[in-house]
Amino acid sequence: MLRVEYREGLYLPDLDLWFDADGPRERCVISHAHSDHIAEHRGIVATPETARLFQHRRGEAEVEALKYGERRDYGRYALTMYPAGHCLGSAQILVEADGERLVYTGDIKLRPNVTAEQAVVVPCDTLVMESTFGDPQYRFPPDVATYDRLYAACDRALSGDAVPVVLAYALGKSQEALELLLRRGYRVMLHGSVYNVSEVYRECGVKFSGEYERYERGNVEGRVLITPPGCRRQPMILNIPRRYLIMLTGWAMSKSAPYMYKDVDLVLPLSDHADYDDLVRLARESGAQRIITMHGAKKFAGYLRELGLNAEHLAQHPSQQKKGSTKRAAAGSERKLFE
Ligand SMILES: [Zn+2]
Repeated sequence: MLRVEYREGLYLPDLDLWFDADGPRERCVISHAHSDHIAEHRGIVATPETARLFQHRRGEAEVEALKYGERRDYGRYALTMYPAGHCLGSAQILVEADGERLVYTGDIKLRPNVTAEQAVVVPCDTLVMESTFGDPQYRFPPDVATYDRLYAACDRALSGDAVPVVLAYALGKSQEALELLLRRGYRVMLHGSVYNVSEVYRECGVKFSGEYERYERGNVEGRVLITPPGCRRQPMILNIPRRYLIMLTGWAMSKSAPYMYKDVDLVLPLSDHADYDDLVRLARESGAQRIITMHGAKKFAGYLRELGLNAEHLAQHPSQQKKGSTKRAAAGSERKLFE
């Protein structure tokens, strides 16, 4: 069986193959373009959409683009990408080597995502899976119920002459929110970073259900504004006299959500990650004889073992590993916002 290690990135030493490394590598396979999964590599292997988003966020790299379902033979191993439903271009990566099928999920959402390709469960022998919400307290309600709560909150705010401000991470969640709002006919204005990523989505062929505007100061009345979560503490938002802040995050289900988001009016559990039930389903339906969990709490592997699965924990999210460093600790709390 292939050895699996975590060294500031997932590493398969038998194949000298890196995935989502935290620092620059000669060549790295990238599951998706979130900033905690990319670095300044010389060469990357990624889906064409992730490669385009990587270029937008990190600049040039030598790109080996692999479309979903396209199997590429590298001699000692072959790679195939499958949709992960987390954001545009996000992929699970199947590695075939010495008769073993190993799948690395990257970040994954099994539920439909209105602006990302539908995730699939890929049969494998070894499953290396993210487990961000690998705790039974994270069981999300049906997404349609959350959409309705989002619409009702926006309607309420707009009818009271307040600006609904949807707080969502710039890549992935923002475009999901944008499409949901456009489908309902709202006029939507986007923070510059959200606007730029949305334009990349359009270049990649995503068709939004309407037009959107780039943020312009003093011109937000009557619109729903989408900004990254950190902006709520900045003048851009603080200077809007009547505002209603809506945070979209799976951490809404956490007991500590009221403390984590005490400066937000409403926290809704719309996530671009799988919830606990979907993680368990993924582990089961993959058929894997060996399950390796990462990017979440160690206890998730314990839950899987209680269900009769052969699971072990590999690594916490990097931002949670180095708590000694103040910078890292700060990144750790911010990382919750990447979700
Ligand atoms: Zn991600």
